[in-house]
Amino acid sequence: MKLSNGLSLNGHPSGRHFLQIPGPTNVPDRILRAMDYPTIDHRGPEFQQLGKAVLSGIRRIFQTEGPVIIFPASGTGAWEAALVNTLSPGDPVLMCETGHFASLWKRMAERLGLAVEFIPGDWRHGVDAAAIEARLAADRERRIRAVCVVHNETSTGVTSRIDEVRRAIDRAGHPALLMVDAISSLGSIDYRHDEWGADVTVAGSQKGLMLPPGISFNAVSARALEAAKQARMPRSYWEWTEMLAANANGFFPTTPATNLLYGLHEAIAMLLEEGLPNVFARHRRHAEATRAAVRGWGLDILCQDPDGHSPALTAVLMPDGHDADALRRVALENFNLSLGQGLGKVAGRVFRIGHRETSTT
Ligand SMILES: *Cc1c(COP(=O)(O)O)cnc(C)c1O
Repeated sequence: MKLSNGLSLNGHPSGRHFLQIPGPTNVPDRILRAMDYPTIDHRGPEFQQLGKAVLSGIRRIFQTEGPVIIFPASGTGAWEAALVNTLSPGDPVLMCETGHFASLWKRMAERLGLAVEFIPGDWRHGVDAAAIEARLAADRERRIRAVCVVHNETSTGVTSRIDEVRRAIDRAGHPALLMVDAISSLGSIDYRHDEWGADVTVAGSQKGLMLPPGISFNAVSARALEAAKQARMPRSYWEWTEMLAANANGFFPTTPATNLLYGLHEAIAMLLEEGLPNVFARHRRHAEATRAAVRGWGLDILCQDPDGHSPALTAVLMPDGHDADALRRVALENFNLSLGQGLGKVAGRVFRIGHRETSTT
């Protein structure tokens, strides 16, 4: 594809590029067309309709009755917003080492001055709810302020059971907030903010929501809003209360990513037209087919949790002595196909296949 600015993208003789990385995912033509529209006055009446529509529509995707805040930022920004709005410097938080993204969120929490306790993991399993329960039960003074987990660990292709984490917290009778990274699951894998008792759910635009990168989300519970009143972490851009005050009328305190919101409006419509249960079933079907193919090739799947195989992506282990990035290069050069690279500890040993289809509609 040759762009008018002279940049050359996916310079293949013909046909569509197969973008099979876990994210950004393929942006359907319907969403591209919806964004191809003039940027309007973000303080005007036309915008207000758009703002109200996306702010209420996105709640249905999070399966929540509560507010969802939209930031012009990548998912990492919404991670930061979740922490700084609810916590105070030095607060103990419990996190689980499920893979690269869990490790990055932990590093961020430490940089922000939180006292992170990291339950170790082998990057082949999901969150250990029993370990969380044991740790919270042992915290007799109830000092731990939050449990932060990744729903779908995009570096390993393992999905964790958030309902089980909720039950673990409840069984321990612990008041810690539950914060969930659903950045690569929302819109691909069943996720229920209210029913599963999440306090803050973090998501991003460029994975299950089929949008380009650039906006991210915090779904917040009443308890999280209550905690925000006491939270002393310095924050300004990420402040929830200013967002919520403007959002009440369909507006934003700063300039919103208007054209991405056009796209979000269309993405919500597409997900609801197909029906969320059908969307989730489609991803499970693609995942099953992908795993069957990988087993047929005689390669190992990184996930070792029988119930944890991600519907959104599959991470594949290369045999010893073979470089995953060399394989990815062959796929790109010969088949116009982008596969996800191995991240962090598994770089060069793993490649990842995103399950979202290259659709034109
Ligand atoms: C992609 C991803 C992130 C990081 O999001 P950015 O948009 O790159 O900032 C964090 N967590 C998970 C699980 C992800 O898949």
